[in-house]
Amino acid sequence: MDTHAVNGEFTPSERALLAPFVTDLDATIFGLRNLPEVVKGALFSRYSRSDKSIRRILLDEFINVPESGFSELVAQIQAASLDQLVATRQAEAFYDRVLVGYGDDSVAELGGAHLACEDISNVAAKVIEDARIGLSPLEKSTRYVMFNKKVAGAYRYVREPHIMQSPWAQAYEATLDHLFDTYSALMEPTIAWVRARTPRDESTSERAYQAATRAKACDILRGLLPMATRTNVGLFGNGRAFEYLITRVGAHDLPELQRISNDIQQALDQLIPSFVKRSATPRGAAMRAYLRQLRTQSASMAHQLPVAPATSNGPQVTLVDYDHDAVFRVAAAALYPHTNLPLAEIEASVRELPNASLHDIIRAAAGERAVRFHKPGRAFEEARYVFDIVADIGAYRDLQRHRMLTQERQAFGVDLGYLVPNELVDANLADPYREAIERACTLARQIAYTMPESAQYVVPMACLMRWRFTLNLREAFHLCELRSSPQGHPTYRAVAQQMYGHIVAVHPELATAMRFVDTNSYELERLESEKKLDRKRPL
Ligand SMILES: Cc1cc2nc3c(=O)[nH]c(=O)nc-3n(C[C@H](O)[C@H](O)[C@H](O)COP(=O)(O)OP(=O)(O)OC[C@H]3O[C@@H](n4cnc5c(N)ncnc54)[C@H](O)[C@@H]3O)c2cc1C
Repeated sequence: MDTHAVNGEFTPSERALLAPFVTDLDATIFGLRNLPEVVKGALFSRYSRSDKSIRRILLDEFINVPESGFSELVAQIQAASLDQLVATRQAEAFYDRVLVGYGDDSVAELGGAHLACEDISNVAAKVIEDARIGLSPLEKSTRYVMFNKKVAGAYRYVREPHIMQSPWAQAYEATLDHLFDTYSALMEPTIAWVRARTPRDESTSERAYQAATRAKACDILRGLLPMATRTNVGLFGNGRAFEYLITRVGAHDLPELQRISNDIQQALDQLIPSFVKRSATPRGAAMRAYLRQLRTQSASMAHQLPVAPATSNGPQVTLVDYDHDAVFRVAAAALYPHTNLPLAEIEASVRELPNASLHDIIRAAAGERAVRFHKPGRAFEEARYVFDIVADIGAYRDLQRHRMLTQERQAFGVDLGYLVPNELVDANLADPYREAIERACTLARQIAYTMPESAQYVVPMACLMRWRFTLNLREAFHLCELRSSPQGHPTYRAVAQQMYGHIVAVHPELATAMRFVDTNSYELERLESEKKLDRKRPL
């Protein structure tokens, strides 16, 4: 089976060492157990910058490193002869009594688990990461990890059985190999071009310079990676969120996601069985059927609509709707906790105030923000904005991870066109990039006739897509300030900057306190962060 194919990398003695700490030694979806919370957190944090599996990292960086203190931990577990799995089974009867006796759904929020989802496609990762409340993901980065390595002679993208058994199998592999070959072939010339354009200055160490120029080249070339590219996602979450995740992912049409749902169920059945058992009951099945019904019914209604034309323009953010009374609402909400008046009465009196007084209230509510981490209060949640965004899939992947908002995407497709990074044009490297992407677009269109969901695997991350963000001003402070920071990728910085521009245009008085949006552009985005890292490192 595909999900179990990539691993199988451990010797018998390594398997014995690993066994107490993972729910499965071979499955690509597994839970962590018998480990201190900080070790589980430290392991997942490595996902971002490593292409190793968590089991390999656990061996190489913890178990086999004497100074990590791991052998003492193993000894303790052996001495106790009661591992977490056994303890979990013993506790299950107790949990069940609590759940049945006093339980409402929220009881399942009181326990959690660390779940590794490795070697899944980017399509699947995005469906998993649609989760907002109760799950915290960490994912392999296209900026810090190069995707040019082959494992057992094959590039790391999913080859789903239903595609490999279809007439498209050969074209699928040839086209995706070509994308990865182009990515690999362009990597060194792109790094060389970046270095020639931004030479190292004396204040920059060779390490920081190497890291920043390499990250820049990865950023430039990530558009070649198809959505079938395998990634690793680590999730920490509570039982209730996991139960919904299993149900939601299992309701998806793609076989990969249905398999992942089953695999998550199996892994969590070993860690927090009582909290996730309902997803495997008729109640869970009915919920899945309901979610499918919602999707198919709305999709059939949308068929009557026309199709949008392609564009080759970079990120475009449209402010579709906003609250025209937001200033009064924010001012009233800011005063509300400090009076005993009804909200409607406060709002009525705020509307009578001269502009200067109104602005004083808003200034007071935002306070003196010394750094972007100083979040203004909940009054700022009263202003609401609806944005329609067209940007490359790469930018979407980064921005999707924001949770304090409503967001929905359209399918990953090729119809809106794709972006070619200006840097590649300047470096005279754009032709092979375009050629590989055009070839993938042609195949994606062909597959989409009969298998529209599966065609998404072929779509390169350079392709434009559309999604909506409905968010309040408090989240906009966070998103626009964080995502415009100098180290960010240029296309998502452009989205954040345009969102900010729209908010300033319609609500200048509310946007005054958004002081940390950076509207400049930078040549080598990672450089300052790498230099900061140098200062933190021991000499
Ligand atoms: C330069 C840069 C590089 C990045 N690199 C990587 C990477 O390599 N791999 C990777 O996986 N991610 C990476 N990220 C993404 C990052 O980890 C977050 O997923 C993303 O910024 C959105 O989450 P958020 O918590 O900032 O904000 P939101 O989800 O928008 O939440 C807003 C705020 O709500 C609060 N909040 C939301 N959810 C929770 C929660 N569950 N618990 C506690 N507080 C919460 C926090 O205060 C948060 O700041 C990167 C981000 C940046 C800016």
